[in-house]
Amino acid sequence: MTVEFISVGTEILLGNIVNTNAAYLSEKCAALGLSCYYQSVVGDNEERLEDTVRQALSRSDILILSGGLGPTKDDLTKEVVAKVFGRELYEDSHTRERIEAYFQRVHSDQVTPNNWKQAMVPKGARVVDNHNGTAPGLIIEENGKIAILLPGPPNEIKPMFERDIAPYLNELQPEGIYSKMVKLCSIGESKAETMVSDLMDAQTNPTIAPYAKTGEVHFRVTAKASDEKEAEKLFAPLMDELFRRFGDKIYTTEEAVTLEEAIVRLLKEQKLTVTTAESCTGGLLAGRITNVPGASNVFQEGYITYSNDAKERLLGVKRETLMQYGAVSPQTAEEMARKVAEAAGADAALSVTGIAGPGGGTKDKPVGLVYVGCYVKGHVTASEFHFTGNRDKNREFAVARALTLLREELIKIKE
Ligand code: ATP
Ligand code: MG
Repeated sequence: MTVEFISVGTEILLGNIVNTNAAYLSEKCAALGLSCYYQSVVGDNEERLEDTVRQALSRSDILILSGGLGPTKDDLTKEVVAKVFGRELYEDSHTRERIEAYFQRVHSDQVTPNNWKQAMVPKGARVVDNHNGTAPGLIIEENGKIAILLPGPPNEIKPMFERDIAPYLNELQPEGIYSKMVKLCSIGESKAETMVSDLMDAQTNPTIAPYAKTGEVHFRVTAKASDEKEAEKLFAPLMDELFRRFGDKIYTTEEAVTLEEAIVRLLKEQKLTVTTAESCTGGLLAGRITNVPGASNVFQEGYITYSNDAKERLLGVKRETLMQYGAVSPQTAEEMARKVAEAAGADAALSVTGIAGPGGGTKDKPVGLVYVGCYVKGHVTASEFHFTGNRDKNREFAVARALTLLREELIKIKE
């Protein structure tokens, strides 16, 4: 089945907001095994929206529209789609009550009259409750074509999609779509892709598709099967092959598991604790570790030592090291890692020191130069990286590399 997206809103056309809904829907629908060949953005204009909807219906099975379901005059997605399908609008009493209750709960207030517009739904449409806003989602089915109308705000569309739309789309397919996410670190995107290019060329069922994430590579493996057991049978040979090729560079095959979560698991298994000493990442690394529920079992404290003085005072890095080699040096990174492990009484430690940019670079130490120190049970290493992104990206990459290094060391001592 084919799916097509229409994002409605003049502010998207003007670049005032980024069309993250399209990216979100694309990824979700691909995972559901739906093929998407077209996506469009159209402003809040009745005529152009109608044209776009008609064209989309002529070439795709399922249409997903986002935005323009609000209470104001320029919100006209529902009206236009109802017109195209020749459906009248009527007031849905259930939605009216839900909007009333929502207003009471969230705004402790009476509903403003224009909100009642959102209780109007096309005849015969399936109404999908919005638990995070007022506009309901709508599904219209006719002659094998389906239009799904979803609210624009990401905090409304995402939970609605997960809870109601994804299961609905899944039901439409004769075969179920099952997928696994094979997540790798310690390998670059192009190398990883090259290593599976033959598998990708030969793919039918299951299929394999790569996704690059900062410092990681993910492969989505998708199978069409009548049930989960059959899907597992289809997955098995491909998964074996991926493990044969990538070994312990694969840190999980579970969609929901993050790199930091895999590391927290490893630490727990090995009954080790970790601490951090961060300069240029300013706490982002500790932030990722503490994102993991239950991180407190392995992480008690971390330090942000941005200045030289803080590195000396809080960690006990020697002034001579800082003077002789500079704050951004392998020597300082190593010493930060060793000293912070001592200070926190932890078994393992990561340190990050570098030049995130845009300023502060020199010929010898350019922007993007980052050293990561990794200490595990008395053994310490420092690794040098040259990132080429902006400040944000350099910091994100530094954190990803630090986590990856720790994982590599933890795997080494496990063996
Ligand atoms: P509302 O009830 O808030 O008016 P709506 O369903 O009418 O919701 P829009 O008015 O089109 O939706 O958009 C509301 C907000 O949702 C936008 O200001 C924007 O923040 C966000 N939004 C809309 N469309 C997108 C999109 N395609 N990608 C990301 N965010 C979006
Ligand atoms: Mg709106």
